[in-house]
Amino acid sequence: MTERQLDVLVVAAHPDDAEISAGGTILRLVDAGARVGVLDITRGEMGTRGTRADRDAEAARATEVLGLTWRGNLEQPDGRVQATTDAREALARHLRELGPELVIGHHLDDPHPDHEASAQLTKEAWYLSGLRRLAEVTGGPEARRPTQLLHFMSHAPFEPTFVVDIEPVWERKREAVMAYASQLESSGEGDAGQHFLYGSDVWERVETKARAFGERIRRRYGEPLLAREAVSLDDPIVRWLGRG
Ligand SMILES: [Zn+2]
Repeated sequence: MTERQLDVLVVAAHPDDAEISAGGTILRLVDAGARVGVLDITRGEMGTRGTRADRDAEAARATEVLGLTWRGNLEQPDGRVQATTDAREALARHLRELGPELVIGHHLDDPHPDHEASAQLTKEAWYLSGLRRLAEVTGGPEARRPTQLLHFMSHAPFEPTFVVDIEPVWERKREAVMAYASQLESSGEGDAGQHFLYGSDVWERVETKARAFGERIRRRYGEPLLAREAVSLDDPIVRWLGRG
């Protein structure tokens, strides 16, 4: 079996989705010593603001702030993401190559079609990555399925399985999100914007959500995550009493 390159892979539809919805969780994992990567499904080329070069430079800046080990792009068409056979096999191959234990993707119920399709794509690829015969037919590394698949929250609310305490990394999450300045700021009069957070101050909305979920865990800021299957708890003593 080839060596694992990553411990955690976050799969997001557009550059900035991972930062906005899971940036704090990524930073906590990186601070704990995990090797974390982000795979963007598209380059966000349908965004009305900024050039492609702007967007690439912004993603590079955010990557640095997050301390990612790896960042890649599945090069699917922005605004037209679909869980096609080719797309899911390409993603499954990334999973086999990178070997993360944990994958964090979009929630399956999201009003943005690209988010919903990316969630479906991630769920299907996660399963396919463990099929030995498919790995043989499509080539590349042998079959290996990440142990856990979790979902982050974009548009649609859900009742989380966990809320990650992101207070310790709050300022850096802000820096990572604000790296996408060309997408988040109006370019002037007549710019109606197509970013899903447009219409009010982007950072204010991220903060409101983080405060609301932080309140649920009696912390200042939190990020919600969902597991669709029951999650095992190996050591309740460490988890609740804080000692091994
Ligand atoms: Zn998005």
